Amino acid sequence: MTQMSGLVEHVTCLGCGCSCDDIVVAVRDGRIAEARGACALGASWFGDGRVPAIARAGGSNVSIDAAIDAAAALLDEARRVLVFLGTDISCETQRAAVEVADTVRGVVDGISSSSVASGILAAQRRGRVSATLGEIRNRADCIVFWGTDPSARYPRYASRYAPEPAGLFLPNGRRSRTIVAVDIGGARGPADADVRLEVPPEQELDTIAALRASVAGRSLGTERFGPALADVARRLAAARYVAIVYDAEPGALPAQPARAESLTALGQGLNAGTRACVTPLRGGGNRIGAEAVLTWQTGYPMTVDFSRGHPRFRPDDGPRALVDAGAIDAALVVGRPLGLPFAIDAVHTVAVGPAASDAACEIAIDTGVAGVHEGGTAFRMDDLPLPLSAPLPGPPVAADIVRTLAQRIGARRARRS
Ligand code: SF4
Repeated sequence: MTQMSGLVEHVTCLGCGCSCDDIVVAVRDGRIAEARGACALGASWFGDGRVPAIARAGGSNVSIDAAIDAAAALLDEARRVLVFLGTDISCETQRAAVEVADTVRGVVDGISSSSVASGILAAQRRGRVSATLGEIRNRADCIVFWGTDPSARYPRYASRYAPEPAGLFLPNGRRSRTIVAVDIGGARGPADADVRLEVPPEQELDTIAALRASVAGRSLGTERFGPALADVARRLAAARYVAIVYDAEPGALPAQPARAESLTALGQGLNAGTRACVTPLRGGGNRIGAEAVLTWQTGYPMTVDFSRGHPRFRPDDGPRALVDAGAIDAALVVGRPLGLPFAIDAVHTVAVGPAASDAACEIAIDTGVAGVHEGGTAFRMDDLPLPLSAPLPGPPVAADIVRTLAQRIGARRARRS
């Protein structure tokens, strides 16, 4: 529902990967006056809903139609195009962007290749031990926060999912659960944990291996890690349902690249005797949606190359490497052009997305923000798709602009063939 004043219920926040879908947005005079239920991070993500609505090409403001025409010409005539999926766009927009990459035989990528690639590749090698956040809320009686306290970057994780809420099989909420904080150097777990395990960063993988051995009833020199590790291993093996939670996004402290794969192995080992899941915390802006759309459209979750007319997975050739090597001469950035892994002025750039006109690129078309001015679908950190509502009217819808762009590039190519 879009309106100038009133309350809009069940709005989904994309401020972080929790994707809280219980926000009530108060709209006054066409602006967001309040995002009720949102944490401070979410309130800042909603803002007051004002976004620029400009189309620019050749240094001047132009009509949207003219900007799309100019973008179609630039991308059609480029030698090799990179399509980059930014944040705050719906899955519908991401899908249209993949169509552009396919049409121009370019490369399509998103934020994941420069942030969480090691975890994605680990999942391809070893599989996943996944669960929805609802399953964790309802069943996990032992939660291990591995080098992370979600309260900083995922403020409502604890109150919405775990450990605070009562679950179907955990009627007493926090009191029904055992919380284990594993502190990896300065990356600490929650302060109010029931059990703490201090791990020097250089011993992280050895510690996971020792836990795996211990829960399997073997010794891998476990004694040298001290009684705290043996105690944690006992608690994991005795729990009815273990959730191991770690932050997959890059943080202030460098994380061990093999962490995801090692924890997954621990979760798989635990499933021999009880139930366990290993669940990454992920950032917002529908970045998980980009991985899902790329996977269902091309078969691969990131860095997909269409230059041979079919999708190929090129995880070693991310956007920065391609731009630095001079292999790309034009880029289409779809979404909020923040945190790009390459300099926007290093190639001819078209930007389509929220506040695109703030970026120093040749052609820019501002659109609404998914979940504020545009509906559609976004993915939560546990790969659950959620509907987006649009509490405010806004600039043109990103999916419509990108679909039109794909059609015009296709028409130019059809005329030449
Ligand atoms: S926890 Fe995340 S998704 Fe929920 S309101 Fe806060 S920023 Fe938004």
